[in-house]
Amino acid sequence: MPRIALHWVKSILLTLYQRSAITRDEIVRSTGLNPASVSHALQRLLSSGTIVKVGELKSSGGRRREVLKLNPEAGYFVAVDLERTRIRYALTNLVGDIRYRWEQELDVGMDVAVSNLLRGLEMVQRNLAPWQSSRLLAVGISCPGFIHEDGLVTAVNLGWRRFPLAEKLKEATALPLFLDTACRAYVQAERRLGCAQGCDSCIYIEIGKGIGAGIVTDGDYLDGRDHMAGEFGHITIDPTAADPCNCGKQGCLEAIASSSGMVRQYKDVSGLSAAGKDHVRLSDIFEDARKNEPVALSVIDRASKALALGLSHLIMIFNPALIILGGDLLQGEDLMVPRIKRGVSAHLPDFVRETEIRVTSLGLDIGLKGAAFLAFQNSLTDPKLMNKLCAPLTEEITA
Ligand SMILES: [Zn+2]
Repeated sequence: MPRIALHWVKSILLTLYQRSAITRDEIVRSTGLNPASVSHALQRLLSSGTIVKVGELKSSGGRRREVLKLNPEAGYFVAVDLERTRIRYALTNLVGDIRYRWEQELDVGMDVAVSNLLRGLEMVQRNLAPWQSSRLLAVGISCPGFIHEDGLVTAVNLGWRRFPLAEKLKEATALPLFLDTACRAYVQAERRLGCAQGCDSCIYIEIGKGIGAGIVTDGDYLDGRDHMAGEFGHITIDPTAADPCNCGKQGCLEAIASSSGMVRQYKDVSGLSAAGKDHVRLSDIFEDARKNEPVALSVIDRASKALALGLSHLIMIFNPALIILGGDLLQGEDLMVPRIKRGVSAHLPDFVRETEIRVTSLGLDIGLKGAAFLAFQNSLTDPKLMNKLCAPLTEEITA
């Protein structure tokens, strides 16, 4: 009996992931596979219900062409977005639609975070319907900071330095687990499902408690020797500034323009730090600025200027077509984005073609969407998971 090669299935499912309903001819064109391989794999994917027929097109010669689509409910993932202040969990279907969600506030500290993560994974699995349980494929985790060659995680804002996160989680769950840095997961989610579809040169900037960048240039994700490319928050943006950063330096972009940096400056300037008051939230600063409160406006101006200067450097180095902004900044989009755009334009020479700057189209779920895509993408390379997804199969998918 002929076998179905794993890379045929991988190419076809990746092509169908973006929910386009497409014909066999279009699948052949976009995968570059030969028509016989596509036909053989499609027959099996259709009979297992992994893909479904959604209609027919009639060509000019009178030939009918089937229109096919990925069956979104053919498989499920647990997506985890490990933010710096909370952990979001979701059960997602095959194409990243959220079917169940759960959230935990996070006490900063690695022991708490890991035990919380285990509890969250258990909570999602406990709430699975029986048909979802049998089709649960893997866990995808989007994690702040960066991941070393040996899989250890360094996330300064979580207090993690070379922390064995994957190892600790694997001890407690039998599900295959895929882990990647948040910025990579975010930029991949934008490229697959968001506003960067079809864009081969784009940068996603996360502005939250920390600041990081996911950089895609000429279609490739920029990783760097130690996987630290995109640690944008720790560029020195003002060498004369005394603003302290979590990395131990002063004057980092993150110290001035992150949500925690902005809150710290607001408290310092308004005298709240000296008074020992620590209840200010970033949203309070944005609210005050909308009422023209001068301290709030000065903090927002300074953070926007620092971000604009940093972005203008990224534009000159990487020449992206699109920069996507996300994170806590979204709460003050009306205040910060126009200031950032004006600042970027002022810093760039006039021979530079304009880079589009916009906010994420995936909102707060971007981390979950990215983690779900991470799990999907990695599952495609695992014959065992593909046989589970395409069950019932009568023939093996082989590597
Ligand atoms: Zn720093």
